[in-house]
Amino acid sequence: MCRCPNCGGRTLFQEGKYFRISEDCSQCGMPIDRDRDEGGYLWALTLNYGVTVVLYLVPLLLLYVFGVISGLVAIIAAGIGAILVPVFLYRPSRSWWLMNYYFFLPHHLPANRRKLADNEDANT
Ligand SMILES: [Zn+2]
Repeated sequence: MCRCPNCGGRTLFQEGKYFRISEDCSQCGMPIDRDRDEGGYLWALTLNYGVTVVLYLVPLLLLYVFGVISGLVAIIAAGIGAILVPVFLYRPSRSWWLMNYYFFLPHHLPANRRKLADNEDANT
């Protein structure tokens, strides 16, 4: 996780900065930030939100509903977790988004590219 999808190098994020994604892979040169496109950021945010709700908040709600924890504990844990879990999942969610993108469009990876004919574009 958090590796370059093209070469596997651990260069997805800038060294020493938890929230800064690298613009290019330092090992293979593949553009990672994709010109700071909003789509990549929003899809990663959506994945982060979905995982937080499904794997943290819903189980917490079920623990409350079935009487395992009290309402006060559930509210405090939900409030704290709703902030900390997305921060913890920031890096994996960016990586998950890139993984999904290149899973469905593997020919966009430089390692998988072939020379295009004059009448082709990269999306065919
Ligand atoms: Zn790379």
